[in-house]
Amino acid sequence: MSLLVTGIGELVTGDPQVGDGSPLGVLRGAAFVVDAGTVRWVGDAVGAPAADQAVDVAGRSVIPGFVDSHSHLVFAGDRSAEFAARMAGETYSAGGIRATVAATRAAGDEQLAAQLSRHVAEMARQGTTTVEIKSGYGLTVADEARALALAAAATRETTFLGAHVVPQEYADDPAAYVDLVTGPMLTACAAHARWIDAFCEVGAFDVDQARTVLEAGRAVGLGMRLHANQLGHGPGVQLACELGAAAVDHCTYLTDADVDALAASGVVAGLLPGVEFSTRSPYPDARRLLDAGVTVALATDCNPGSSYTSSMPLCIALAVREMRMTPAEAMWSATRGGAASLARGDVGHLTVGARADFAVLEAPTYLHLAYRPGVPLVASTWAAGRQVA
Ligand SMILES: [Zn+2]
Repeated sequence: MSLLVTGIGELVTGDPQVGDGSPLGVLRGAAFVVDAGTVRWVGDAVGAPAADQAVDVAGRSVIPGFVDSHSHLVFAGDRSAEFAARMAGETYSAGGIRATVAATRAAGDEQLAAQLSRHVAEMARQGTTTVEIKSGYGLTVADEARALALAAAATRETTFLGAHVVPQEYADDPAAYVDLVTGPMLTACAAHARWIDAFCEVGAFDVDQARTVLEAGRAVGLGMRLHANQLGHGPGVQLACELGAAAVDHCTYLTDADVDALAASGVVAGLLPGVEFSTRSPYPDARRLLDAGVTVALATDCNPGSSYTSSMPLCIALAVREMRMTPAEAMWSATRGGAASLARGDVGHLTVGARADFAVLEAPTYLHLAYRPGVPLVASTWAAGRQVA
């Protein structure tokens, strides 16, 4: 059953070969045809071919569905009191993760699955059609494997993050915990995961431990990603570049050498402005990265501690206001940038052959995503040509 989407006031294709010639490939008065979940035709509405069904969006803008390349959605519990304390002046450290670990271990499978699907649905209502989901709140073999099995039911972009923080029971012997992560835990988790990740930061894992974890994942066929340089300068970004990871996320504290390494290696820098917003911390300098030629992705980092937002529109608004990105750059980084971070060619754009993942905005242009912060502008969300929100 083919579907013609027409009456599009402004279509963001993500194809620099069409439309205004910008990286976003913006077309006006456009239409596109979807069949079998895939975009089959894109062009001027006047020349659109016939289809089995038609949807007229009455002048609204249409954008590719957001690709949220960094989230932690398998968890139980709530850390609103910790947030309130932080806003009252306490500082954030990586150790707060352990509170969520305790709540997650205590939760039943059904409770975790219900919470996960609620968050995925919440993301869909805000235009997200691809989401990466990490484990990392189980930190035992059984709890990490459970988290990834649940995540795999919600997305194909699953990431094993056993190296999120050293759990309390290994506090005196972190080396034994790294052995567990790279041994039995990896064995139990690899079948449910596409990626491996580690939190390389003071208070979490040092660079040698992070290297050991990523190399173990690579040896069993997982792609590599890394949390690094969030709370201060450190060697994580250089490690990600040296290993050829797909992405290194946070990148808040970078030296010139870090920026040069990112530009030279092609490793995607994932920026997560919800974290800086929610921890009242300095934002990463996206302008510096973009001017150096680094590929930048924007993601929510949705998690109950440092960034409990599921909203890519909020991240776009923050990126524009606080990180000196243009609205066009932020839009690109939230779609094609996220796809690059996940090494996906089929999402983040609306060109012939792409997955028909898109959002219809209650706005004449995507510019409103940054121009009207906090306003629920997503009128509907479609995944593989079907309306999902
Ligand atoms: Zn994270």
